[in-house]
Amino acid sequence: MHDAVRAAADLRALLGADAVLTEPEDLSKYESGWRYGKGKALLAVRPGTTAEVSKVMAYCHGRGIRVMPQGANTGLVGASNPDASGEMLVLSLERLNKRLEIDPINRTAVVDGGVLLSELNAALTEHGLMFPIDLGADPTIGGMIATNTGGTRLLKYGDVRHNLQGAEAVLADGTVVDVMNHLRKNNTGLDFKQVLVGTSGIYGVVTGAVLQVVPVPRQHATALVGCASGDAVLALLKALERELADVFTAYEAISANALNAVFKHHDTIRNPYAAQPPAYTALVELSSTLPGTALNLPEVLEERLGAFLETDEGEGITDVFMGKPEDFWAIRHHISESLRNEGKVLAFDISVPRSRMAAFTDAAVALLAQDYPFVRCCDFGHWGDGGTHLNLVWNEAESPRPTPVIVEELQSRIYELAVRGFDGSYSAEHGVGPHNQRFYDAYTPEPVKAVNRALKDQLDPKGLLGTTRLGPLA
Ligand SMILES: Cc1cc2nc3c(=O)[nH]c(=O)nc-3n(C[C@H](O)[C@H](O)[C@H](O)COP(=O)(O)OP(=O)(O)OC[C@H]3O[C@@H](n4cnc5c(N)ncnc54)[C@H](O)[C@@H]3O)c2cc1C
Repeated sequence: MHDAVRAAADLRALLGADAVLTEPEDLSKYESGWRYGKGKALLAVRPGTTAEVSKVMAYCHGRGIRVMPQGANTGLVGASNPDASGEMLVLSLERLNKRLEIDPINRTAVVDGGVLLSELNAALTEHGLMFPIDLGADPTIGGMIATNTGGTRLLKYGDVRHNLQGAEAVLADGTVVDVMNHLRKNNTGLDFKQVLVGTSGIYGVVTGAVLQVVPVPRQHATALVGCASGDAVLALLKALERELADVFTAYEAISANALNAVFKHHDTIRNPYAAQPPAYTALVELSSTLPGTALNLPEVLEERLGAFLETDEGEGITDVFMGKPEDFWAIRHHISESLRNEGKVLAFDISVPRSRMAAFTDAAVALLAQDYPFVRCCDFGHWGDGGTHLNLVWNEAESPRPTPVIVEELQSRIYELAVRGFDGSYSAEHGVGPHNQRFYDAYTPEPVKAVNRALKDQLDPKGLLGTTRLGPLA
């Protein structure tokens, strides 16, 4: 048992009184995740510099105190909260947010690990630049690196991994590793920063990053396209890429169930359909740095969609609505929250090869209809990159078995279908944590786990960082 009073006093002496939180009402926001994960913290520490992070880690290493690095706590796999032991210290990076330097010619931003995505983009706007990872939450850069965040424009810009040039990290014993590479090309052996990407903070605390940034597009054009089936969604994707790849930025598909939930719970969001929506609605976005006088994007999009409708491939298209990007993205960004008002939600973050998205979704819906008729499939997601949030909703009062049993069954069967049946992934973009740990254990090749074991032994030999395990079961 660690002595919280003693640890708080020692850390206050190192960092100052206001850096350490011990009262239950102050700790509660660090103890529960946005969707999954709830625990109890020994205390929370909020260092403001890399040197302070190093002091905290060295202190914890000396005393064998386990540490949970935490950014904005928007992660979706329960990996950012302490466990239930009351023995883990939360290392919040929320005050590590001072460094924010922009080099417009190198097209890079140097940031502290606790800088929020919104803060970074606000600073970049002055230079006509942006960090292109776009999502419905406001995470920290360190958290985005630890989860390798994807988002809605991965189709054009890639994920965090593709936009990260350098990093700074503090290891479990307090050692600072500086690989703040500012170079686009640098083939000099192991790319150490990649060890920190998508590994849930278990190999080191990300305290800084060099990010590649991109010019802000001058114009966007968006359309909602009604599709009679998943196959029609894929036929449209193929045609749009073939003809508009240079300016094609995002391609989301929203099932009728997910769409109806948004309209039911948000009066201010306009439903363009006169009757029931078709099986899927695709949200298509084009963008360009060219001005509208050089290239009229809405006109291009409308014309290309019209031409597609005339072809055999376009026969599954039921409707085309042109409209403002902010209106259409509002629909997309209100889905998760609308589904929460519909009943118990079990969220999935699955990817399969894009060509198999429709077949996978059809197979999942058939499985549910046969064995779980009380469950509604409200899927939506980034079909442009083979990702789907296959979110399932049900009324717990109608469920034949207790919720934890149903959750267990559904997770096992849907992940098995995705991974073994469709060569997919059980975690497309949210990373690995307690919420999906047992599927990591089941589906990860043993040699990969062995490399992770070696890394953990080298970088965090006492096993103090995080609750995710990437090595083999003990
Ligand atoms: C409404 C909503 C929409 C979302 N949409 C998307 C989406 O479209 N695409 C997508 O990929 N994700 C999405 N997410 C998930 C989430 O926003 C990302 O995983 C996010 O990048 C996590 O960042 P964070 O700062 O909140 O990290 P946290 O939640 O605080 O932590 C996440 C993980 O990173 C570790 N960590 C945090 N900071 C550090 C650090 N400095 N050093 C080392 N480890 C650290 C934690 O220990 C934990 O394992 C969404 C979340 C919400 C709530």
